[in-house]
Amino acid sequence: MPDLTATASRAFSDALTVIASVEPRISDAIRAELADQRGSLKLIASENYASLATLLTMGNWLSDKYAEGTIGHRFYAGCQNVDTVESVAAEHARELFGAEYAYVQPHSGIDANLVAYWAILNAKVESPTLQRLGAKTVNDLAESDWEDLRAEFNRQRVMGMSLDAGGHLTHGFRHNISGKMFAQHSYGTDPESGLIDYDKLLADAREFKPLILVAGYSAYPRRVNFARMREIADAVGAVLFVDMAHFAGLVAGKVFTGEENPIPYADVVATTTHKSLRGPRGGLVLATKEFSDAVDKGCPMVLGGPLSNMMAAKAVALAEARTTAFQSYAQAVADNAQALADGLLRRGARLVTGGTDNHLVLIDTTTFGLTGRQAESALLESGVVTNRNSIPADPNGAWYTSGVRIGTPALTSRGLGADDFDEVADMIVGVLTGAEPVTASTGKPGKAKYTLPDGLADRTRARAEELLDRFPLYPGLTL
Ligand SMILES: *Cc1c(COP(=O)(O)O)cnc(C)c1O
Repeated sequence: MPDLTATASRAFSDALTVIASVEPRISDAIRAELADQRGSLKLIASENYASLATLLTMGNWLSDKYAEGTIGHRFYAGCQNVDTVESVAAEHARELFGAEYAYVQPHSGIDANLVAYWAILNAKVESPTLQRLGAKTVNDLAESDWEDLRAEFNRQRVMGMSLDAGGHLTHGFRHNISGKMFAQHSYGTDPESGLIDYDKLLADAREFKPLILVAGYSAYPRRVNFARMREIADAVGAVLFVDMAHFAGLVAGKVFTGEENPIPYADVVATTTHKSLRGPRGGLVLATKEFSDAVDKGCPMVLGGPLSNMMAAKAVALAEARTTAFQSYAQAVADNAQALADGLLRRGARLVTGGTDNHLVLIDTTTFGLTGRQAESALLESGVVTNRNSIPADPNGAWYTSGVRIGTPALTSRGLGADDFDEVADMIVGVLTGAEPVTASTGKPGKAKYTLPDGLADRTRARAEELLDRFPLYPGLTL
């Protein structure tokens, strides 16, 4: 591909001039965000940097078109260009992941999960109400029948990974709609190894008999065996739903293959497009043919009208993800996580599960005498951006936590390699070793405040800046 960075520079610069003529505070904020992103050592495992082509695709008049419905079957006239955009994005998604069917309308990962849940209910619940009425799907029901149906749906069970083991809110947690829609049972990890215990999972599933088994995570630093997950789902007659929001880029980049690739094993797969997949903010759902009609009901049943400009950007990012360059990127994400984990372990940190084989590590901050909150703040003050995260059986609860989650997708996009991540490990352990919890008035260590030795934050920030200078974000983009 020719280097079009100079062209992109002009495009962004001109766009900002136009925006500034209407509301300069917004063009200023957009510029400031670029400066912030360039200047921060971004180790948040769910974030990345989309390509300039992907970013440029988002701002245009596709946004002005209403297109509720599906490709070729819209509730509005004149959707031929949206049909093209959605078809191309879905084609790339199907071919990239080897899926039978792709639905690219979801506006985010959570929306994609809701579409998936609704589709599974729609396709699988053996509802006496539906049978009595002879209705094929819930969409054919009269309003008066809904009360019975709601009760039937409400009795359905979902089984997903617990939050403190690394699962996501949408896997049945009580503060999310999924926990209100379904009866929920969560599976954790083995207390010794920190790994998923598939035998125990099977035993629990036999007891709980879920309609939906959810596999996938936000903070589990290991690969999942989806062949095992399929066996467990089959043993109890459950639908296997995989939420690959975090690791879709490693599937796309063919780092997760064989039994670690969810697509051949799952009935329905949902993902974000903006995490390791490195696309625009959004989501998508992949499914077998059996579920495709039900997934197509996503809009308007679950979702607002499609964001056609964002579907266009998904198409561009998915095209990028089909290149060998993206495969090299995905492999580097995993290699860098390995280097980071090795560097942390060598310097005495304790990692949940003892390491990683995906794109993230989870440091147990209690070995440094810190809560996750204190560790996150001390690192942030030192120019290292992470997020606090619960660890299994967390002694400090979901707010303060006892861990920090660190991911490699964003900085790998900037070009950092294994040696650089070893340097990052050195900076992190330096800060966490130096930080001291501030004792509360009760005489016990507090959970939020901390102190750092004089100069440590400044020295670490200088090291972070030196590293970032060597790996400019969007090199050649003159803004
Ligand atoms: C991030 C994430 C989501 C939610 O994605 P949003 O785009 O923020 O709605 C869903 N599931 C998992 C496993 C995630 O990690």
